Amino acid sequence: MNISRAGSGLGPLQDGSRVVILGGGPGGVASAIALKREAQSAGRDVEVIIVEGKQFVGEQHYNQCVGVLSPPVDVLLEKELRIPFPYHLQRGIVTGYVLHAGRRQIILDGTSEPSVSLRRVQFDAYMLDAAHEGGVTLWHARATDIEFHADKVVVYTENFPLEADVVVGAFGLDEGSAAIFSRAVGYRPPPMLSSIVTKYHPGEAGMTKFGSRIHAFLPSSPRIEFGGVTPKGNHLTINIAGDSVDTALMNDFLAFPETRRVLPDFENASRINSNDLRYFKGWFPRGLARHFVGDRFVMVGDAAGLVRAFKGKGVTSAIQTGIRAAQVILRDGISKSAFQSRYYSANTDILSDLPYGQAMRHFTILAPRLGMMDLILQAAEHNLDLYRALFNAVSAHRSYREVLQEGLSWASIRAVGGAWLHRTL
Ligand SMILES: Cc1cc2nc3c(=O)[nH]c(=O)nc-3n(C[C@H](O)[C@H](O)[C@H](O)COP(=O)(O)OP(=O)(O)OC[C@H]3O[C@@H](n4cnc5c(N)ncnc54)[C@H](O)[C@@H]3O)c2cc1C
Repeated sequence: MNISRAGSGLGPLQDGSRVVILGGGPGGVASAIALKREAQSAGRDVEVIIVEGKQFVGEQHYNQCVGVLSPPVDVLLEKELRIPFPYHLQRGIVTGYVLHAGRRQIILDGTSEPSVSLRRVQFDAYMLDAAHEGGVTLWHARATDIEFHADKVVVYTENFPLEADVVVGAFGLDEGSAAIFSRAVGYRPPPMLSSIVTKYHPGEAGMTKFGSRIHAFLPSSPRIEFGGVTPKGNHLTINIAGDSVDTALMNDFLAFPETRRVLPDFENASRINSNDLRYFKGWFPRGLARHFVGDRFVMVGDAAGLVRAFKGKGVTSAIQTGIRAAQVILRDGISKSAFQSRYYSANTDILSDLPYGQAMRHFTILAPRLGMMDLILQAAEHNLDLYRALFNAVSAHRSYREVLQEGLSWASIRAVGGAWLHRTL
């Protein structure tokens, strides 16, 4: 393959152009497939290269993602990328949630399309295969540095350097890649929440007993913002998140009576599989990155912080923003101004919801400590608006703006007031 090439201007990508995508997670791969498809339908031959350091095939690398994929991920794959949704990889259908907060819990079942749980490494391998079949080149190496010039970008990798007209930054929250872009273009990664993830195999009877709902926890512990236990076929994935969670906090979470109650047979250590209770560290973005677009570069998914703030739908948002970046590159151009006007406006749904997500985060940190969640859960048992707001917040099926509108209706506020009066009288 010819790895160096002559540069072009900053307009929409023309025949013979090249895009290098840094990162082969859902954001990078969606962008690659969309670029190939859209270029083909415009009659342009555009070369697309994904640089990915991990080996997904054979599950040699772990991905900390819990792997619950929320709508409209299937529509994005099938309608926009025209690849079948990998139902064969599914480990379960999420039929609902049990929210534990304060001393109460509530079952939240919705009527909308359910989420699907699968193993993220298998999903990433499937997506990369689809990209390869669609004519995308996979470059197995880590990118180590980047140079921006007026007419081209040079991406240095662990093997050959690559030249491109434009680079898509789809490197998630990788610190090394963030440092490279920070040096080259002043990029600042998004603010983050840390997370610890682990697994537990309670056996077949234990899985049946656990059921198909995800258990979500809003503990009153000041350092754990939320926790979750998710059924994944033959095991349960357990995760916690907060500003700086660590193994000691995961031990605390596993010792909480409300967590113990939902983990079948957890007391019986002899049942614990040798792979169980190994702890993995991960990060969630909880706000926007800075300087994530510029001449000849655009970032997607976690790297841009373009996700539903606070919780949920990271994979769906990465795919959405990957497709949107591809459309801007081919339709509007690769200049900073093209990205600032067209990419930002294409992502208005995510951008306009960020302040509501952040407000929700602060509320869910404070409310359990003030004893308010007990009242809210109690009121939601009789108030449909509040029930729906809780379901949509936990499932990530609606925007936070819609969740807050539902949750702050007069009927909801009256119901919480009623629960408070009932308790104090
Ligand atoms: C604990 C936890 C649980 C989660 N659970 C869910 C969930 O259930 N559902 C959901 O939708 N989202 C979940 N998320 C969020 C989700 O994982 C992310 O939002 C999503 O993966 C973002 O996709 P991305 O393509 O932007 O980045 P990533 O998936 O992080 O992909 C980035 C890729 O870039 C590669 N890369 C980085 N730097 C380089 C380099 N220099 N050279 C070469 N390759 C490089 C990495 O190897 C990686 O494959 C979870 C996150 C965490 C931390």
